[in-house]
Formats: sequence, C-alpha cells, structure tokens
Amino acid sequence: MAAKLHEECGIFAVSEGKTPLDVVTACYYGLFALQHRGQEGCGIAVNHSKNISLYRDLGLVSQVFTKDVLEKIPGGSMAVAHARYGTTGDNNRMNVQPLVINHKKGKMALAHNGNLINDFELRDELESKGSIFHTTSDSEVIAYIITKYRLQTSTIEQAVVKAMDEIKGAYSICVMTDEKLLVARDPRGFRPLVIGTLGDRFIFASETCALDTVGATFLRDVEPGEVVSCVDGELVSDRTHCKKEPKSLCVFELLYFARPDSIIDSIPVLNARLRAGSFLALEHPVQADVVIGVPDSGITAAIGYSRQSGIPYGVGLIKNKYIGRTFIQPQQGQRDTGVKIKLNAIKSTVEGKRVVLIDDSIVRGTTSKRIVQLLRDAGAKEIHLRSSAPKFLYPCYFGTDIDSSENLMAYKYTDDEMKSLLGVDSLGFLSTENVTKLSDTGIEGFCTACFSGNYPIKNNKTKNKFRLE
Ligand code: SF4
Repeated sequence: MAAKLHEECGIFAVSEGKTPLDVVTACYYGLFALQHRGQEGCGIAVNHSKNISLYRDLGLVSQVFTKDVLEKIPGGSMAVAHARYGTTGDNNRMNVQPLVINHKKGKMALAHNGNLINDFELRDELESKGSIFHTTSDSEVIAYIITKYRLQTSTIEQAVVKAMDEIKGAYSICVMTDEKLLVARDPRGFRPLVIGTLGDRFIFASETCALDTVGATFLRDVEPGEVVSCVDGELVSDRTHCKKEPKSLCVFELLYFARPDSIIDSIPVLNARLRAGSFLALEHPVQADVVIGVPDSGITAAIGYSRQSGIPYGVGLIKNKYIGRTFIQPQQGQRDTGVKIKLNAIKSTVEGKRVVLIDDSIVRGTTSKRIVQLLRDAGAKEIHLRSSAPKFLYPCYFGTDIDSSENLMAYKYTDDEMKSLLGVDSLGFLSTENVTKLSDTGIEGFCTACFSGNYPIKNNKTKNKFRLE
C-alpha cells in the first residue's frame, strides 16, 4: 500500500454515429483526462468493420500512445479505452485493459473500474469447469461470466443483466461487441459512470472532466444497477437491478480520487471539498495566522477551512508537476530528498506563523511527517494538521489499495501518539458523521466503510478484518 491511496481505473468509450469523429483520438484525450485514476497502464480497443483491434501497454497515456503508435491504430466506428491502477492482480501487461475475448457468438472488449468481492469463488467455479484465465485480474472473471450467459441469451444486454446476478462488489463496466456498445454500473453505484453526447454519438466516461475534454455535453449519470446500451442511435436502458439496494457511492471519490472539475451523481467535487474544509473548521477550530493546503486535493479543503474560520488562506507548499512514474524514486535514507523534490515550502508564507495544514487524508503518516518537517525547516512556529477525510481504520474491498488495517496510522496509534509521531501541535480529522454531508443539496448514499467499518456488502474478505475496539 502506498503512502497515498490510489484509485484503480478510468474508463472511456465512444459509440457509433454519423457525426465525423476519429474515435481513437477521442479515446486518447479521454484517457488523458482520466490519467489521475490510473497510471500503471492503458489501452484502447477499436471496432472497425466488426473486428476489434487492441493496443495496450504499461505506462502513462503519453508514454503508451505516442504519435507513431496512434498513427498505426486503425480508425473505427466505436471504441473503448481504459487507464489502470491495479488493486487486484499483478502489475503486468496482461492485466492492462481493455480485455478482448473471442467466444462462440463473436468478440467482446471489456473495461472495468472497481473490485469484485466474490471474484475468488467465481474464478474457482469457472476454472473447475474448464476456463483458462490469462490474467490475474477480477475483470477477466466478469468477462467470462458475461460470456457464459451470452451463450444462453439472445442479446449481450441480457447476458450482462444475468451476469449482474452473480458478480458482487464494485463495478462500472463498458462492453463493446462486434455490433454494440453498452455500459453497466453495480447496484450500489460504488464507482461513478456518466453519459455524454457528441453530435449523434454517445460518450461514456468515469468522470465528467473527460466529457469536457472531448467537447461532449453531459447527459446524465448511469444509475446504480442500470445497463445502458446504444441501439440505432438511441440509448436503451435496462433497470432490472436498479433500486434493489441502497446507493453506496465511494465518498473518497469526492474527497480525493476524482478531479475537482468533475460532477459525480449531481455533486460538484469542488463544492464537496470546500464543504469538507468548512466542516473541519467547525469541528477542529484553532487560533492561527494562515491556512495552507497540501497540493493538489488538500488545497480546496484548505480554502473551505479558511472561508469558514476567517483565517487567511496562503500558498505554503508548491508541487513539482513534472514528476511522472518514470521518476527514479530515492533509496532508503534519501526519502527526505524525495519529498523535497516533489514539494517545497514557501518560507514567506509560513515563517514565524501559526499554520493550519490541510491534507486530504492521512494513511500511513509517512508523507505527512515529511511535509511537517519541510514546514518546520521553513520556520513555521506552530503546525496544526487537519485531515479532510476521517481516520482510516479499515481496509477497502471495493477498488482502492487500503489493504490492511495494520498499515493505517490511525488504527495503530492514539491521537496523542499520532500527534507526537507527526511532530504537530494539534491534529484533527473530519468526522464520519460529516463526511456523509458533503453534498450541498442533501444528496445521500455513500460508502464510508474504510472510516466506519460499516461495509455496504458483507463478504468473506471482510470477515475477521474488523478492528477490535
Ligand atoms: S471503503 Fe472507503 S475507499 Fe473503499 S469504496 Fe468505501 S469509502 Fe471508498
């Protein structure tokens, strides 16, 4: 588990249509806008004359899809694309999506965001019946379950609806066959999925920021449990799995994962972060001279804290934007150099000041500790650390890499111990009560399991993992 949490994927797709569009280039820009959701690998599957071609590799979108590569990919009528951060399965090329499967009734490309909680059981069952898996990811399990039902049903939509009876957990998926494009969102809506229009074409994406990037107009969110397909230029919806279970959107999408310019299930992400900062100021007030945020997602919450408390906002930390995955990470013993390369403190903002430092979360505490030291070195007189996420106490099974309570600082230590380990004058976390009130229009229905231990779906993976209190 990294010092910061990671999302696992972004998906993007373009339907058939008469509006002239280079679908490969549209996917490239869409993936670019979703790069924050996954940096390990990416791919584009294109449908040209009912054939599906796939190009995928490990690396950032700009590294994988160079000009030469883009020129070699054949144009097509529709396409599906994926950016991956793997939380299930190994980080190897075979796990990079979309997955393309050949079966008796044709070809299918699949892109998936989320994590299944019953993938081991399903994989076991499929393997005992002769299936041979090529990847270690749960997405291949979804592809095989859909394929199993495709052999029994007359349409791909029916196969996806039937598959949803079996697969449990978090999934927003996009499926492209020789003839059709469709999407589905799990009945609890853990991960976001939106629909936009571009001329007479439909665009599907994990976040609205990707629609904006390609010039598409937002139409609506895919409902939790809904299967939406594009048929003869129209959207056809199947709501068999809708409203059977309460909604459980991952609240960490609003606090950290999503881009601040996205709108998820009618909640502007930027507003949610401002509100988180404002709640923090009410819950954990302090006498101070300046409020600063840890770039990037701590900044908006810091502005919210400043507005609510009346303490001026200042730019106290600057991030080097040009560090990619290829950056050679410092060895043990050079870690402080590492954080200085990524972040630098602005002396004129913090020197001699009582500083409120807002971060989006505290996971293992290692990064926070180094940032506090940076601010001390720059002359901060007092440092009051506030986290716009509640305390992480429990693992996540729905598509992020919080894998074990033992790695979580707030699980291992008391508040006083954390304060002393981090080297701060005071420490405060947003409450689990207020994290469910991040929508300014009163929208509810969030998963808060990693903070509260209340898992929306109970399963074998969650058994025995609860904290003993
Ligand atoms: S457990 Fe936490 S990170 Fe995982 S889906 Fe729920 S809120 Fe999101």
